Amino acid sequence: MKATETTSTVLLAHHLKALRLPTVAAECEKVAAQAAADNADHLSYLLRLTELELLEREKRAAERRVKAARFPTMKTLETFDFSARPSVNKVLVAEMMRCEYIDKKENVLLVGNPGTGKSHLATALAAQACAKGYRVRFIRTTELVTALIEARDERTFLRLKGQLAKLDLLVLDELGYVPASKVGSELLFDVISTAYERTSLIVTTNLPFESWTEVLGSERLTGATLDRLTHRCRIIETKGASYRLQDAKARTNRPARSTTPVEEQKTSS
Ligand code: ADP
Ligand code: MG
Repeated sequence: MKATETTSTVLLAHHLKALRLPTVAAECEKVAAQAAADNADHLSYLLRLTELELLEREKRAAERRVKAARFPTMKTLETFDFSARPSVNKVLVAEMMRCEYIDKKENVLLVGNPGTGKSHLATALAAQACAKGYRVRFIRTTELVTALIEARDERTFLRLKGQLAKLDLLVLDELGYVPASKVGSELLFDVISTAYERTSLIVTTNLPFESWTEVLGSERLTGATLDRLTHRCRIIETKGASYRLQDAKARTNRPARSTTPVEEQKTSS
């Protein structure tokens, strides 16, 4: 009896491995005991197991998509303090977390000074897209342009372009921090126009529109780039002072306030 049991368990483990059902393999005994206790029939048992396998698979796939997106630091909307950035419409951002803009191939432009939460918001939106099954890549604009310039031979260049073409959402972070060369601007325009109506873009920039020519060089190229980018685009302005600065100031003030009232009086006078 014991021997048959062992043989079938070993065989089952082997079959489940061959079928690539690791969660079923890991959980089948535990779920079987539970099903027996609940008086559940065979089909309900199978249903419970397959549900577990699916859930685990989706979780792993989402983790892989986050890894492939290569976020510099993970950020979520839960940690974004909307009261510190009143120019950002909380309702609009919450609506964008549903990712419908990606289905509609619309773009998002985050404009504002350094430290005002553009990359934070872009990361939170893009991470949500990963969770919902979209293919995402987050990259600093200069890094992408440099990679395209350095992909001298055609095969590497086409491979890079092929990787971009497979994305549902491309985040171009920090557009305009460094002026691009002529070739760089043309390559950037190429990325933006290839994505047009095919891949959603989230672009973060400190540049007001009127300054884009200074960075992209030619007026004609700037016009064409902005035309593609801003057609069907949501613009979020992160107005105000740097959050880093405000946060640093709050931190330096906080201990003084929370220690002794005498100290507070000293610092405030
Ligand atoms: P930007 O990309 O506009 O230069 P970041 O998004 O990198 O700014 O923000 C700078 C730092 O401040 C990050 O650590 C970010 O998480 C934090 N931060 C910015 N704005 C907020 C906010 N409204 N609430 C919470 N953290 C914020
Ligand atoms: Mg940034």
